[in-house]
Amino acid sequence: MTVKLVRDTYLPYGKQWIDEEDIQAVINVLKGDYLTTGPAVSEFEKAAAAYVGSTYAVAFANGTAALHAACFAANIGVGDEVITTSMTFAASANCVLYQGGIPIFADIDDKTYNIDPQIIEAKITAKTKAIIPVDFTGQPVDLDKILEMAKKHNLVVIEDAAHALGATYKGKKVGSISDMTMFSFHPVKHITSGEGGMITTNNKEYYEKLLKFRSHGITRDPDKTKEHHGPWYYEMQFLGYNYRMTDIQAALGASQLMKLEMFVNLRSKYVDLYNAAFKDMEEVILPYQKEDGVSSWHLYIIRLRLEKLKVNRKEIYEELQKQNIGVNVHYIPVHLHPFYRQLGYGEGLCPNAEQLYKEIITLPLFPGMSEQDVYDVITVVRNTVNTYKMS
Ligand SMILES: *Cc1c(COP(=O)(O)O)cnc(C)c1O
Repeated sequence: MTVKLVRDTYLPYGKQWIDEEDIQAVINVLKGDYLTTGPAVSEFEKAAAAYVGSTYAVAFANGTAALHAACFAANIGVGDEVITTSMTFAASANCVLYQGGIPIFADIDDKTYNIDPQIIEAKITAKTKAIIPVDFTGQPVDLDKILEMAKKHNLVVIEDAAHALGATYKGKKVGSISDMTMFSFHPVKHITSGEGGMITTNNKEYYEKLLKFRSHGITRDPDKTKEHHGPWYYEMQFLGYNYRMTDIQAALGASQLMKLEMFVNLRSKYVDLYNAAFKDMEEVILPYQKEDGVSSWHLYIIRLRLEKLKVNRKEIYEELQKQNIGVNVHYIPVHLHPFYRQLGYGEGLCPNAEQLYKEIITLPLFPGMSEQDVYDVITVVRNTVNTYKMS
């Protein structure tokens, strides 16, 4: 017997929204004079800085390159310790390794799934140089506590806000608060430039280092060069990279940014539908939201109460996939990846993150999904959980 599926097309967990204006913006660049290092990049940077309320913004080829640059600007070097969370994408910790630093994983708060400030404090040593907190799923971390701690111990805060473009903390936009804040424009994120990233900052010294790092460590500004050979002269002052964003990417990003508020509103509307539909289910824990921030909802994650279910997360995940619901798992704790184990990290380091990993499923959430898509997910999740719940 073949059972009729609630939906016969696959619904991914995330997807970009591209409209005719976006396409036209890219075409205009392709027909113009500059494909890279042209005016579109600084226009995108200005718009992003204005949106988040920061003094400066520097665009990068992707968010990972942006994190690397921020670690360089923060002067992370060989042997320096940087505290971050394990419940994140590997890039949040890899950027420390790129600079020869040592990632130190602090466990998460069991309610918000964000890094726990008290555990950060316990991990600070004489070698600690920076903290990289991640606004997990779009919910801002406890910035006041983290920034206060950073000030006390003279640490730089590089906020990984890849999930949190459009989020606010105590009424302020994420991106205007930390020493440096990173955004990603990968297609599953809030806005996309294909690949792309940005650092926002209010600090001029960081800004100038970021600009040079993005382009081989080179400056052409005659006020900043040590020698002066003539009008052709540029100078490489440290080992940088080619981490530039193209004008093609920047034009797409700037066009997308104009739709950000609409994107965030749709995401939170769908979250409200999910929350209302699941709140009576004893077998799932819904995303807890603190009062001091407003999430921009990159991800909607349900946590299974495995003691109330006859099967594990894997079986539920596979059943949802079979039903064309493109669920995902965010994240495999970074310290459990084979590469990190080989560096000496492993089980037991972050018990809350390790436990959470076994119980979570990310449901589809993106502005381009329809209300009917949301109801399909709700129906399939409810049916599946009911099938496997302890009677
Ligand atoms: C997406 C993401 C990154 C990396 O961004 P890319 O643009 O893909 O390089 C870093 N940290 C987190 C938490 C992310 O989700």
